[in-house]
Amino acid sequence: HDVYDTAEIQRQDAAHYMHPFTDHKALGERGARVMVRGDGIYLWDSEGNKILDGMSGLWCVNVGYGRTSISDAVYRQMQTLPFYNSFFNTTNVPATRLAALLVEISPPQFNHVFFTGSGSEANDTNLRMVRRYWDLKGFPQRHTIISRYNAYHGSTVAGAALGGMAGMHEQGGMIPGIEHIGQPNWLENGSGMSADEFGIVAAGWLETKILEVGPDKVAAFIGEPVQGAGGVIIPPATYWPEIGRICDKYGVLLIADEVICGFGRLGTWFGSELMQIKPDLITFAKGVTSGYVPLGGVLVGDRVADVLIHEGGDFNHGFTYSGHPVACAAALENIRILIDERLVQQVAQDTGPYLKEKFAELMDHPLVGYADSCGFVAGLNLVRKKAAAVHDCEFFEPEQGVGMICRGYMFANGIIMRAVGDRMIIAPPLVMTRAQIDEMIFKIRYCLEATLIDLQQ
Ligand code: PLP
Repeated sequence: HDVYDTAEIQRQDAAHYMHPFTDHKALGERGARVMVRGDGIYLWDSEGNKILDGMSGLWCVNVGYGRTSISDAVYRQMQTLPFYNSFFNTTNVPATRLAALLVEISPPQFNHVFFTGSGSEANDTNLRMVRRYWDLKGFPQRHTIISRYNAYHGSTVAGAALGGMAGMHEQGGMIPGIEHIGQPNWLENGSGMSADEFGIVAAGWLETKILEVGPDKVAAFIGEPVQGAGGVIIPPATYWPEIGRICDKYGVLLIADEVICGFGRLGTWFGSELMQIKPDLITFAKGVTSGYVPLGGVLVGDRVADVLIHEGGDFNHGFTYSGHPVACAAALENIRILIDERLVQQVAQDTGPYLKEKFAELMDHPLVGYADSCGFVAGLNLVRKKAAAVHDCEFFEPEQGVGMICRGYMFANGIIMRAVGDRMIIAPPLVMTRAQIDEMIFKIRYCLEATLIDLQQ
């Protein structure tokens, strides 16, 4: 094993490395945790601690760490052809094969793929594609895209504007023609209604917004099947079918941002299948390579592809790394693993339902007011006082930072769970077994208990 000088790495890190989404003052004081190795669902840090990764890195390591068949595929491709672009009538073998494979595993309306280097770039691509679509259809005024508050669609200028994160919007750089509506967050906004009733109400906000903007000005609606970074917000079953009905009614294009939900996370290849969404465009990234190398893209449905290809011809957009052969080779091997090991079916039929059962049992803990899951994403809400009806729970003051206290205990006790306010969330690697779910739940209970004792002191 390598021996790491953790203090020296942390010193260099604090001095020179600007991290994404990080409070650098706090980082400078504490020092970053240095991850050095991964295997299956576990990570090891530079001090030799073994950590159960409840977040699959950043919602992406679907097949788990340490897959040498992916690194072998990457190595072989690098030795054969490390790079060539697909601009100006050239292509490469892995990109072409991957496009065909993605078409095979995606819903039937998808027959084309546009590759990017990340999910953010893919959402920029969506924005330009839908506007180009309406221009070509002869409706150049139809440029507004409706998204949702608290959504995360990436960190490029268009990604941040499409997203609904207040902290990102406040930094400026917004672009015109993007509107936001509320999330289908039943816990927060559905008091007095059943979840299904609330789903219809929340979808109705889209119709209200379309009418406010003017149906002749709305190009598309974008949403994550299950909202991830904003706190794993699992929509009521009625929500997406009603969103689809409204989009159809006004001819609005529907974009499913599947950067988190794609590639088996919800127990289906794409979350759209589970949520009964019929999107025109699907954003993907993360799980397409299980994060081993960067890759993203847009699945382009026939409605858009027919116009862009047959009526438009040229689409002046693309990235140096669109269809990068090494990234595509990694994706091909990653998808082979997902298929051969039946990981998507495993989440749907076995480990997903087991996780649901175990997460629901956590509601017997005095701090847990609400817990829910969908496939391999799950969340629980920490509350000051529980109640029989979840809407009657008493919540903590945000300033108390209870979620962050709990997250600290998790981190210190070898499990990674993310805190979004006081909602603790997980998105484990799809390879996690029942026994490993038990181990994770045991650790979560231990840390909930530690948080409770901390709060009582
Ligand atoms: N869309 C969603 C739903 C995401 O969760 C993310 C990243 O977390 C993105 C887009 C942006 O992807 P990337 O970080 O690859 O640019």
